Amino acid sequence: MWSTPRLGPLVVGQALAGGRVSALARGPGQVQVTVALGDGQPVVFELVTAPAAPGPFAALPALSYRPTPAGFAAFRAVGDALASALAPHWPAITHVAWPDAIDGLGEDVAATLPLTALLSDEALARRACVAPWTRLEYGARPTIGPCCADFQVAPAAESGAPLALWHGPAMRGFRRALASADAGATCRASCPRLRGRTDTLATLVARGGPAAFRANQIAVIASILDGAERPATTPLEVVFPATSFCNYDCLMCSHGATGTLADERPPAFYAALAAIAPGLGRIEVLGGEPLASPVFRAVLAGETFAAAPQLEVALTTNGSYLTPAELARYRHVRLGHVTVSLNAATAATYQAVNRGLPWARVRPNLDALLAAHRAARNPRAITYSMVILRANLHEVEAFAALAEADDVAVRFMLPMHDRNQQSILTDAAAMDAAQAALATVAARLRARGRDREATRADGERAVLAARLARGIVRALPD
Ligand code: SF4
Repeated sequence: MWSTPRLGPLVVGQALAGGRVSALARGPGQVQVTVALGDGQPVVFELVTAPAAPGPFAALPALSYRPTPAGFAAFRAVGDALASALAPHWPAITHVAWPDAIDGLGEDVAATLPLTALLSDEALARRACVAPWTRLEYGARPTIGPCCADFQVAPAAESGAPLALWHGPAMRGFRRALASADAGATCRASCPRLRGRTDTLATLVARGGPAAFRANQIAVIASILDGAERPATTPLEVVFPATSFCNYDCLMCSHGATGTLADERPPAFYAALAAIAPGLGRIEVLGGEPLASPVFRAVLAGETFAAAPQLEVALTTNGSYLTPAELARYRHVRLGHVTVSLNAATAATYQAVNRGLPWARVRPNLDALLAAHRAARNPRAITYSMVILRANLHEVEAFAALAEADDVAVRFMLPMHDRNQQSILTDAAAMDAAQAALATVAARLRARGRDREATRADGERAVLAARLARGIVRALPD
């Protein structure tokens, strides 16, 4: 069931035979009307398409009510009035077309509606992955596609403005493959989204927002159901690196040594992004260090995002640029998720691993970020991230404790390659120690009800365990 401010002849707040309509809700084949009686006591009335037995209201026998401490006599008049009001609209009022339900979310950007409440099981299962209809991702190489290039069979080296790429040959190829159930033509079997069925209609959640955003979501869902190769839509999500440059030189990452501001996305890119902002729900900005891009910082502080209230901005950042003053400049931006690459739980290890600003300069930035998100009552939208290396292996549990103390999510990752001889995967004892630490962390997360984070930690642990069991002691991805 999802709530709605209006239902046929009824609106929330309307007076009804001495009571007042306090809530309206609808779901597949049924509607609910909650009426606060004169003494404030709520009574929930239910109207279905096909009632199992007639209810007590003569004007509309399909109307019934939920058991309530109030005696029937206390709400009989309200029930009769409701039956008379709804009778001309039944049974049509119990049916809702999914586009109308999404449009009915209205302007409230916090309103959500999972497609599982709207579509049949057959429709929900129609595509193994919907990313080609919802996402456009610019890779670092540079490549483009609906997702990370690592999971594409032949990442395309197309470039250009988002809308041109959205309708270009690479994205059309993915749509063709996924619509014809031939995902193997474009997608590797190892793709976690494909394997885990994490990007399907069953996992999509429609959101409220301006009319153009609701209309684009409706068009996107229709294009997925149709398997359209050239949909008349714009992306719901765009992912891109703002620059390959980074002001840090982390032990495991090459951006600090090889990144350059010469590849910074120019103002023209953001102008093209602004053109599709009315239909966008989310952008995710990566790097290098995304906030090292002066152009991106200026865009964040400008009008592009203020004009699209539904648009969430997700960042993966080292946090060094998120000073309290900079955060204040971005206060109109809906920071949907900020992943902070900290990689350490103490000042000494922070310096040894990240080789950038000292911890004493970054901690106030974290505090400002936490305060901003708490003010928005959404502290879990921050994640502290650690790549487990030889240099920080001893702080895995302390890192999880730091995230717990700050009430944010925690993420652990295994290193790719063996940069600076830091991979723990080239040393069986280090792999074993990491495995044990991750097991402790996962158990603690689970005990706190943080199952998603625990599952992710277990996933990294499982990779270590499998490689140890097979005697594979060498750096990923081999
Ligand atoms: S199945 Fe994987 S590789 Fe294919 S489009 Fe979806 S996310 Fe990308």
